[in-house]
This record gives sequence, structure tokens and C-alpha cells, in this order.
Amino acid sequence: MFDLPRAAAMIIKRLNAHGHQAYAVGGCVRDSLLGIRPNDWDICTSALPEEMQAIFRDQHVVETGLKHGTLTVVIDHEPYEVTTFRVDGEYTDHRHPDAVTFVTDVREDLARRDFTVNAMAYHPETGLVDAFGGQEDLVAGVIRCVGEPERRFDEDALRILRALRFASTYGFSIEEHTAQAVHTLKATLHGVAAERIRVELGKLLCGKGVGRILRDYHDVITTVLPQLAPMVGFEQHTPFHRYDVWEHTVRGVEAVPPSEVLRLTMLLHDSGKPAAFTMDDNGVGHAHGHQKISRQIAEEVLTALRVDNATHDLVLTLVECHDWPLSTERTLLKRRLNKFGEEALWQLIDVQRADAMGKGTLTVEEIESRIGTIRKALQELIDSKPCVTLKDLAVRGGDLIQVGVGKGKAIGQCLDYLLTEVMAERLDNDRETLLSAAKRWKLEELG
Ligand code: ATP
Ligand code: MG
Repeated sequence: MFDLPRAAAMIIKRLNAHGHQAYAVGGCVRDSLLGIRPNDWDICTSALPEEMQAIFRDQHVVETGLKHGTLTVVIDHEPYEVTTFRVDGEYTDHRHPDAVTFVTDVREDLARRDFTVNAMAYHPETGLVDAFGGQEDLVAGVIRCVGEPERRFDEDALRILRALRFASTYGFSIEEHTAQAVHTLKATLHGVAAERIRVELGKLLCGKGVGRILRDYHDVITTVLPQLAPMVGFEQHTPFHRYDVWEHTVRGVEAVPPSEVLRLTMLLHDSGKPAAFTMDDNGVGHAHGHQKISRQIAEEVLTALRVDNATHDLVLTLVECHDWPLSTERTLLKRRLNKFGEEALWQLIDVQRADAMGKGTLTVEEIESRIGTIRKALQELIDSKPCVTLKDLAVRGGDLIQVGVGKGKAIGQCLDYLLTEVMAERLDNDRETLLSAAKRWKLEELG
């Protein structure tokens, strides 16, 4: 169950040899017990920072946060955080302890940690230290605060979002008292840095239990993303949708592969629907133009979350174009390849599949069959190496100048014309054909 890396075992052994206690602790213990490979191995110890520095003098050491007792030992390019047992002082800013105090009992260190499943330590010889019932909660699939939930969330509001994140990642439920405190104290999340919220939200969205969390804790989600509040419970009044906007969104998020880009796209794709909503004389709802409004809302949300530019741009494109028609028709797929590029077009298909799943009007078989034929047609098209961008054309601007099409702006216009004709399969992509077409274009367009 515990596949302690050699380097981590060495660190623990060395600390022990110098008379200090040392354990693997936190996420790596939790994940090992769950049979999941840990991302990293954190170590806690009774050694003080200056003692650790002396003990690891011959190693590559980074002084990560000496004030808080943390030192990073880098072995074979792998970083291991080693932290002195500590208890936290007052939290006047709802996020960081004003001061920390080093202690000598591992149980005191475990008591400052957020959830029981994160508050276990492991020693390769003496085994598990589980002072708060973490093992039992892991087996039952429960996220429970160590100690009094209100106090723990009041100390550090990020823990509220971490509770949701861990519950989503592992498909766990949140213990009743902890859940109550999540709802009661959600407003304190306003003080948490956007970057931290983004990280937790990204992981939350990619978890296997995301549906339950978005449903049961929509009030928390809309506390950090107030732009989404109108979606909750918003009825659509249309035969094309069985669920309200939020439930449709939740189902869409669940149905798309767990990447941050795709999950954010599904979370935001219909965010503009409440603002775009109109009802006709027959009592049927419409949301004309919601895609543009969704894009604006997505832009606000992604900017507030400070996501990186690549994620920002891709999500906005997918949100705005989420219902662009797709079919098996080659020329249409070529235009889509030109607009989105290969990677984003595959993602758009994932989005449309998830969107359809979330509507609750077609069967899964109907959706899979339609999406399957589009994917097959796209793959065949890509295998045929189609010309879908200017750089795929068999001529360059220079060739057109040589045959006298002109220069400057005219060259760009002519290249665009040739690409459109080639993509529509009205012209073959070979040099001679394109040069004659360019000359004809010059006569017609420029006279
Ligand atoms: P991950 O798999 O995402 O790394 P993790 O549990 O290791 O999960 P980290 O943020 O790396 O999460 O934190 C390591 C450990 O430190 C946690 O397991 C927990 O014991 C403790 N911890 C982290 N953040 C907090 C917090 N905000 N409040 C209390 N304890 C925390
Ligand atoms: Mg970790």
C-alpha cells in the first residue's frame, strides 16, 4: 500500500538517526491508503529548521518557508518538503496564521490539518498515526474537518473550497456538520486570492463527484462566481431541454472529459441564457444570442480567476461557438478545421456531445451514434491531409506576385479566395490550377 520512494525513506531515516521523529504526512498518506499514486511526498519532523539544515547540508536544499518550518530537499530532481511539527497561531486574515509555533508531538501537528483524511502520518517501521479517524472516514468516503468545522473554516476560508474539491475528486460526501459550516461560512471565501480559488475550482470541476458537489453546493460556487447565480433553477420552457439551466450545466460538466478547459467550457457555455431569455406568445422559451452573452460572462469569470491566456482564449472560443453546426460533410468540416484547428475541433465535438447529454431529450445511443459518425468523418478527413490553412496551399504570395496578381493587399485577398475555393473543393490544390485561377481572379476582381 505504501510505496515510499527511496529518497523519502532516506530523509526519514536520516532524521531518525539524528534522534528526531519523522513521518510521511498528508496527501501522500491519504492517496496511498486509497491505492492512488501520490503526486508528492511531504514529510513532517520534530527537527527544527536549523537542525534540518545541518542534517541535509550535503543535499540540494531550498529554503521554501523557513519561518513556517518548511525546507525542500531535492533528490534526483524530485522535491521533498520537510516541515517541522507545528501548531498555527491566530488567523486574523481568515487565511494565514499570524505566527506558527514548533512542537514536538506529531499529533499536535496533525490536529492543525484540515480534514481527517489529510491528518494522518506514516512511518515505514511503526506504521500509521491516525489520531482523528482518518482511516475510517476514507473507508466511508467522508470529508470531515479535524475539530470544530466553523472554527476551522473561520481560520482559513480556503478550506471550504478544499472540502468541496476533495469530495469531488474522490466522489466522497461531506459530513453533515462540516457541510453545514461550508454553507454558513461561504461568504468568507470573498477574502481568498483568485489564484487559490482557481486551483481548487479546477480540481473540483475535474473530479468524479463533480455533479453532486455542483448540485448540493451551488450556493458556494455562486459565492465565488456570482455571475453564475442566475442559472440556478432557471427554467427553459422549451421542448429542446428537459432541465433548468443549472441542472443542464451540471449534466454537461459531468459528461465532458475531465480536463480543466472542457469542464470550464461546460460550466460557462449557457451562462448567458438567463439574460438572453424571452418567451413567445405560445409560452415557449428562447435564448437567441445567448452564446455571445455566455462568452462575455465567461470572460469576466476567467479574468477574475486569473486563468492563463491559453486556457482563457480556448474556453472563450468553445463557449461562444459551442453550438456551431457540425456534420459529416467534408467541406463543412474543412471550414471548421480552418476556424478552430484540429485540437480545438475535437474538443468542440466533446462539448457538443456533453451538451446533448445534458439536454435530456435524446437517448445516449442516439447521441453516441451521431457524434461517432462526425468523429469518424473528421478522422478520415484529417488522414487525407486536407488543405485548410494558407500554409497548406500549393502557392505562396510570392508566386502570385510573379504571375502579376499585384502586391500588398491584393495578394492577401487572392490567397484567401484560393483557400476558400480549395476548401469548398471547387479548385484542386495544385500549383498550375491555382496560378490560373489567380490570374482569372485578378481579371475579375481588379480588372
Ligand atoms: P494534493 O493531492 O492536491 O496535493 P494534499 O492533501 O497533498 O492534496 P496540499 O495542498 O499539498 O494538499 O497540502 C498537504 C497537506 O497539508 C494536506 O494534506 C493537509 O494535511 C495540509 N493542508 C494543506 N492545506 C491546508 C489548509 N488550508 N489548512 C489545513 N491544512 C492544510
Ligand atoms: Mg500535496
